[in-house]
Amino acid sequence: MAHHHRHLPGGHAPGPCPSLLPFQAGPPRSAGRRDSGRLTMGVGGSNPLVDVHVHLYRDKSAGRQAKDSYVIWEYGDDPGVEFATAAGDITDLATTYGQAGFDRAVVVHLFDTALARTEATDRLPPGRSPEEAAHITAAIEEAVAEAMRASNRWVAETARNNPLVEVLVSLDPTVLSRREIADHLTELADAGVRGVKLHPVAQGLLPIDPRLHAIYDICSDAGLVVLSHSGPGHRGDASARPSEFGPVLRQWPNLRLVLAHLGGASWRETAELADTYPQVAFDVSEIIEWIGAPNAPSATELTELVRHIGADRVMLGSDFPWYDPVRTADLVDGLPGLGAGERAAILGVTAVRLLGLER
Ligand SMILES: [Zn+2]
Repeated sequence: MAHHHRHLPGGHAPGPCPSLLPFQAGPPRSAGRRDSGRLTMGVGGSNPLVDVHVHLYRDKSAGRQAKDSYVIWEYGDDPGVEFATAAGDITDLATTYGQAGFDRAVVVHLFDTALARTEATDRLPPGRSPEEAAHITAAIEEAVAEAMRASNRWVAETARNNPLVEVLVSLDPTVLSRREIADHLTELADAGVRGVKLHPVAQGLLPIDPRLHAIYDICSDAGLVVLSHSGPGHRGDASARPSEFGPVLRQWPNLRLVLAHLGGASWRETAELADTYPQVAFDVSEIIEWIGAPNAPSATELTELVRHIGADRVMLGSDFPWYDPVRTADLVDGLPGLGAGERAAILGVTAVRLLGLER
């Protein structure tokens, strides 16, 4: 999915931030980047092995806390899902992916705004007067914004120090203004990050929410990838069903959008979105582990969906440390009736092409 810098009618008021211009032209940033030679070959022989949906935590307790607090509800009763035991710090990640011969693990970062807000609130001194409420709210929001920026800088730095790791950073547009988003993304893209991870359901948004437009504008213009959670919502209006990304793909036709989980429990909408918008790609994370659950496809239905979309638009994702990437790759291998070329595409060839990993 080569990106173009064609300006789109109506989509760009007030236009890209001037500070983004240095990396609009030419191939994505190499300054400060680690040695970026061609991919080595995966354990499977001549084909690359890439996991495009990986989570990374600062330490094991943060990883365990995230795993404990993120409830996977949408597929219905657990059909006997095998969860991984890893906690998801850099040691777990490097060991798991290194030993299995992966060429890349793409960290799709998820900053927990609600948790950061609680932590910032807990740090405030007690006994303030009601008149101070507005100031306190502003102070909390600034602390949350700074915590999100620090979290993204940490994950970008981790990627720079580990040739296995690529990064999509976490942006919560309810925390940063349009200008702050532009400044932060410019800094991070210069530091080598490849795009942005969104989670509309966790962030309380719909995909077309106006607060997300700055991210779409900037990523579309700069050729950065946007990988979003997809699936139904369960609180308020927040939702990320495949059909709800249609307006985004219509308004930003050059956006390099990847939908995680093939639509999740709303997977029956995915084929139509893929037919209408040939630029959107997908990862198989989570849904492939939940095959056979009431709201998930059967193995045959999942294979039919992947073949309908085309393996050149579908990528391996494990959602590590929730699931084990070797097991997820085995599940892809075991999908009934996929050809060798289709399996190779899903296991890495598609990711190398769509994410530009050969650079
Ligand atoms: Zn995930």
